[in-house]
Amino acid sequence: MSALLSVSDAHIAYGKVEAVRSVSLEVGDNEIVTIIGANGAGKTTLLNAIMGILQLKGRVVFAGEDIVRLEIEDRVAAGLSLVPEHRELFATMSVEDNLQLGAFRIARAVAARSFERVYALFPRLKERRRQLAGTLSGGEQQMLAMGRALMGAPKLLMLDEPSLGLAPIIVADIFRTIGELRAAGVSVLLVEQNAQAALQIADRAYVMELGEFILDGSAKDIAANARVAASYLGFTHEGESAV
Ligand code: ATP
Repeated sequence: MSALLSVSDAHIAYGKVEAVRSVSLEVGDNEIVTIIGANGAGKTTLLNAIMGILQLKGRVVFAGEDIVRLEIEDRVAAGLSLVPEHRELFATMSVEDNLQLGAFRIARAVAARSFERVYALFPRLKERRRQLAGTLSGGEQQMLAMGRALMGAPKLLMLDEPSLGLAPIIVADIFRTIGELRAAGVSVLLVEQNAQAALQIADRAYVMELGEFILDGSAKDIAANARVAASYLGFTHEGESAV
């Protein structure tokens, strides 16, 4: 079976500086895949390049189509969606208007169903649909950013640091929703510094350091890896040395 997303030998540079080198990754149907790694490892750069915001050298096949030369909006139309690290909401617009922006390319009837789906997933957004986005709490803003990305009914949702700046109880809520998305047939590519939470929910994981993947495997195996535990989970597994 071919993967939903397949990135092969990706290189991404800012001018002469190569921020991502020789990276290959796959996300299957109905899979949650996480990329964990320290600040500056290149995770955001990789997601932005898959979305088409940055240029990438290599191959990116999505739903059977080579998308590397497609514009961002054509990638959205193909079923890719990104929730950016800083959420990028329109603070002076209402919740509903922010969601509407996520549906600007789709037919009215489809958009109506998207609103229903997003409000069922995030009842809180429905309650606050007339409120200005800038007055929402951090957790609600993350929900809105996810909701907007879901308006076009993507096959793959890419999430960049959804837990950033949120209290643990809200993070648990957001991660529960990510699990619900998979159950609803959406695949997820999750970039996270909160490795613990990400590895708990993901099926598979890639570990990124200095622009390269240094490890990959099932989330369970990666969580049990001594080096990962010491570097990203803040503890060492008993009886193992952390190297
Ligand atoms: P973070 O969690 O901080 O976002 P990250 O793993 O997502 O970290 P990136 O933001 O992708 O990492 O950064 C990867 C590398 O590329 C870093 O060395 C960073 O300094 C560099 N970089 C990021 N954006 C730019 C830019 N616009 N111009 C030049 N270099 C950049």
